[in-house]
Amino acid sequence: MPLLDALPASIDEKAFRRALRLSEDEGGAAAAAEILGAAVPLLRPRAYFRDDFVDARDIGGVTIGGRAFRSRVLRANLDTIERVFPYLLTVGGELERAAAAQDDLLRQYAFETAADMAIHAAGARLEAHIRRVFGTGSLSAMSPGSLTDWPLEEQGPLFALLGDGAEKLGVRLTESFLMVPRKSVSGILFASEEAFTSCALCPRPRCPGRRAAFDPEKRAAFGLED
Ligand code: SF4
Repeated sequence: MPLLDALPASIDEKAFRRALRLSEDEGGAAAAAEILGAAVPLLRPRAYFRDDFVDARDIGGVTIGGRAFRSRVLRANLDTIERVFPYLLTVGGELERAAAAQDDLLRQYAFETAADMAIHAAGARLEAHIRRVFGTGSLSAMSPGSLTDWPLEEQGPLFALLGDGAEKLGVRLTESFLMVPRKSVSGILFASEEAFTSCALCPRPRCPGRRAAFDPEKRAAFGLED
């Protein structure tokens, strides 16, 4: 199964400046360039994915590659989809260790932000690769732990499905199913004409990572009105 080493994950300097609320003048540009100059060499964006098919469906989940996943939302999203791409993506642990070692909290935050932006960029590259190679059209993704309907414990069957891919990337699960390095993302990519994002079903207030407005009607349509 494909391992994508040295995945491009360029960070847009202007977007980075905006995320850190650095000034738009030369001083802000120089500060951003200095931080990125220290952070970017510590990134190691890599991804591993599988090309799989849905084996079976029941009322509350799906089976993929012989591994059962319990989620009504995943089940609904894969209702008419056969081909799926379980994946794992990381930017490695060097930058987050460097961030933790910073005495200056603002610099620590800047390093964390750089890692988050790099993982987002690497994710876009992974999707583009799958679209190009498999001709899937638009892709959406779901990740264990993004909704109570698909809890973090489901990292267990996902990592089992990924087999030695996680080891190849140097990513492991803790006993509480968190990934180490933290700056890693796992999930299942699938073709979808209408973009799906878990954020639309998630009522969590004031989430800094929100990518779509909460839509109570959509949440109810997925059977999550409780
Ligand atoms: S709103 Fe925040 S917590 Fe909810 S799914 Fe989106 S990123 Fe995750």
